[in-house]
Amino acid sequence: MTKPRQARIYQGTPRTLARLARRLQQGDVVAVPTETVYGLAGNALDAGACAKIFAAKGRPADDPLIVHIHSLAQLPALCRANPAALTLARKFWPGPLTLVLPKTDAVPALVTAGRDSVAIRMPRHPLFRRLLKATGLPLAAPSANPFGYISPTTAEHVQASLGRRIRYILDGGPARHGLESTIVDLRDPRRPAILRPGVITAEAVAHALGRRRLPTAPATSTRAQPGPQVAPGLLARHYSPRTPVVLHDRIRLPRAEADTPGVAWVFQQRPKGRVGANVHWLDPRGRLPGVARRLFALLRRLDALGLDCIHVERARGGGLADAINDRLRRAAAR
Ligand code: AMP
Ligand code: MG
Repeated sequence: MTKPRQARIYQGTPRTLARLARRLQQGDVVAVPTETVYGLAGNALDAGACAKIFAAKGRPADDPLIVHIHSLAQLPALCRANPAALTLARKFWPGPLTLVLPKTDAVPALVTAGRDSVAIRMPRHPLFRRLLKATGLPLAAPSANPFGYISPTTAEHVQASLGRRIRYILDGGPARHGLESTIVDLRDPRRPAILRPGVITAEAVAHALGRRRLPTAPATSTRAQPGPQVAPGLLARHYSPRTPVVLHDRIRLPRAEADTPGVAWVFQQRPKGRVGANVHWLDPRGRLPGVARRLFALLRRLDALGLDCIHVERARGGGLADAINDRLRRAAAR
């Protein structure tokens, strides 16, 4: 048997953007840069294209896809927006915010995993925006990783884990935020809820809607079928390295242990004093945007070392720290 070809990484020249747009219009899938993490995009109105996304990722059919748009004019064809949704769209789009709204018949059931709601986002990354515009299509795009694994924040991450299952990767540089979008449930505008924390904080969303706070729902009510399972993509174990991850409020590392083979220590900020070969930090000064941006890349790098265990310190504070700790909790879940 011949080995499948490696996916090619394309730079975003006008020629390659036109070419990749044609591929998308023809029903192919293309990995794309976004400001959150890299996505695996396909025509959201073409069930065949979306089936390729599920197949490449090994994603279960009950986990719906987020649909990406270039302009607000695309909304009515996809969903029934409400005033609360338009308020958030005007404030945060283009940006890392996804809105869950009642869907129209144009959206294939495959995209929404049979739900009568669809998740929509207008991304900010300039290359992805140009590609969206060139296709003239809404593009469904989950994170471009095998299901359950750490989300990719560079084109090289995508190539390393999906390179033999897809053909086209558009390189837009390292993702600026490094965490998946904030998801807000607005199916019923009277009962908005945060389904997934992200860079746009629950506080910021609540404030924009003129509320004191928003519930952070385990989104069981959005499932197509009732059941004991947690909400799609909100699985306890997700974004996970293969190496066991152990979380700590604060790591106090005895000198001798800093060099224990097979064990990595990940601090939020550069620890004072002597550091061993197995000592890492997410941001020199522990600043949360830097921590978020580097988290997945560092977990991937450490996971490739075949260690026995990765110890990670939790982020401190609320807001962005909540989103970081949400991903850490899932990475550590067994
Ligand atoms: P990903 O793009 O891989 O980060 O995953 C997208 C996630 O968006 C899914 O796993 C769900 O958690 C969420 N999502 C997408 N569509 C819906 C929907 N119609 N209702 C609720 N959540 C959704
Ligand atoms: Mg994902």
